[in-house]
Amino acid sequence: MTEISEFEGVEVGDVTAEPLIKQSLQLVQSMLPDMLLGVSKSTLIAALGISSSLLAMASAKCKLGAPPADISPVTDSSGNLVLRCEHSPPHEWNYGSGARTS
Ligand SMILES: [Zn+2]
Repeated sequence: MTEISEFEGVEVGDVTAEPLIKQSLQLVQSMLPDMLLGVSKSTLIAALGISSSLLAMASAKCKLGAPPADISPVTDSSGNLVLRCEHSPPHEWNYGSGARTS
């Protein structure tokens, strides 16, 4: 339900790619509870790679720092799906809630 272009500080160059981005991130998110049941880590990494490629294709950028930085999907230490930018220190958003967490 969350469009990443609505996240604080995130700009998406090609919004026509947003439905695909959303689908791929929701796929990743749906896999996370199953990680406890032994879904292979390589499957999750592949799904994260697809999401990451789509974000790059759509020119999704974090504008909270200068110059704008790329954004990648990762899992945090609690196993939540987050989007993290390449600024130093990085900005971060919880994908599920859309809230900025860093
Ligand atoms: Zn940033």
